[in-house]
Amino acid sequence: MPRTDFDPIAIRKEFPALDQTVNGKPLIYLDSAATSQKPRAVLDALDAYYERDNANVHRGIHELSRRATIAYEDARGRVGSWINAVEPSEIIWTRGTTEAINLVAMAWGLDNVGKGDEILLSVLEHHSNIIPWQLLAKRTGAKLRYIELDEQGRLILDDLDSLLSRRTKIVAISHVSNALGTINPVKRITEAAHAVGAIVVVDGAQGAVHTKVDVQDLGVDFYAFSGHKMCGPTGIGVLWGRRALLDAMSPYQGGGEMIHFVGREESTWASVPHKFEAGTPNIAGAIGMGAAVDFLSEIGMDAIAVHERDLMAYAIEKVGAIPGLTIYGPTSLDERSAVLSFSLGDAHPHDISTILDSDGIAVRAGHHCAQLVMKHFGVAATARASFYLYNTKDDVDRLVDGLEQVRTIFA
Ligand code: PLP
Repeated sequence: MPRTDFDPIAIRKEFPALDQTVNGKPLIYLDSAATSQKPRAVLDALDAYYERDNANVHRGIHELSRRATIAYEDARGRVGSWINAVEPSEIIWTRGTTEAINLVAMAWGLDNVGKGDEILLSVLEHHSNIIPWQLLAKRTGAKLRYIELDEQGRLILDDLDSLLSRRTKIVAISHVSNALGTINPVKRITEAAHAVGAIVVVDGAQGAVHTKVDVQDLGVDFYAFSGHKMCGPTGIGVLWGRRALLDAMSPYQGGGEMIHFVGREESTWASVPHKFEAGTPNIAGAIGMGAAVDFLSEIGMDAIAVHERDLMAYAIEKVGAIPGLTIYGPTSLDERSAVLSFSLGDAHPHDISTILDSDGIAVRAGHHCAQLVMKHFGVAATARASFYLYNTKDDVDRLVDGLEQVRTIFA
């Protein structure tokens, strides 16, 4: 059950790392798109596992192994319900979004993509949703095609039908851009992709974080996301896939736990999800991600979305009013998530970040692993403030003060 009222100040107190000073100033953490902070509930779940239940999963008959296995599989079920998976076995634990996309590229891709086939991406993608497809294309002789961006960093979908054909085997698209915050119309793209027989792989690293994701409603085939961006631990993530596709896929890695029977020359595979989880998994990470899902569910994804929209409206108004400052990305709040990418006059984004850091404000500067987006806007880098459930309008005010200081230095 979601909490009855949304109070970001109270929520913030649940995140120990936010309660510190940096360079003598209270920390303002505006880099959650890179990784979020972790609430006490998640830290406690990790501690409880290591202090009481630590054992390998699926292998032992002893009590600790039983407990660890139950907690690990229970977390799978909770994450599955959270995104409305049909069944827990559709949840494959991975190291994160990157590994999840690589898994699809290598396991589904090598079996189903050949010379002359096409893979459709967009210019908006994080490198994690470009490089695996480039590797696949090199190995198979397939061709990459791209959906272009308009001047606000939105996908140009007018000519989508001409980019798709019976040769298109995969459409790989982000739910939300980490570089600009653009929210993509995944359902619309999926319908068009399915009409030509292509599968749809969604990079949900910035999607599941901010909005309620319902994979069945989206209608996609694979959805990848990372625990560390949604209050969970690092080193754990999820590949959700349709059961029929997962069943038909070859394993991605070989090793312990993913086999049914091993012979000298040939072996047979365990059923999903274990077929894709070779070796000792990140047990603590999975349990921590389950706790993160419980935490976010208790607060309520809808309430988080409303709060972030409010915060973005305020940030765009206040930060956007700074002379010489350019905000990149869609102007409509309906089309953007809690990411504010900007430049300020001639100040290099790294200098902006350094000056803000001296004020205790953490923002990101660089190409955000989205060099095609930077190229589109003709810049090498931007500064990026990204917001989450624990940020407040006061944080935005502190950011504005810090940026005024940058402006004074570079005037
Ligand atoms: N895709 C997007 C949109 C991202 O923002 C990120 C991380 O920043 C990734 C993929 C990669 O996620 P991870 O590094 O957790 O695998």
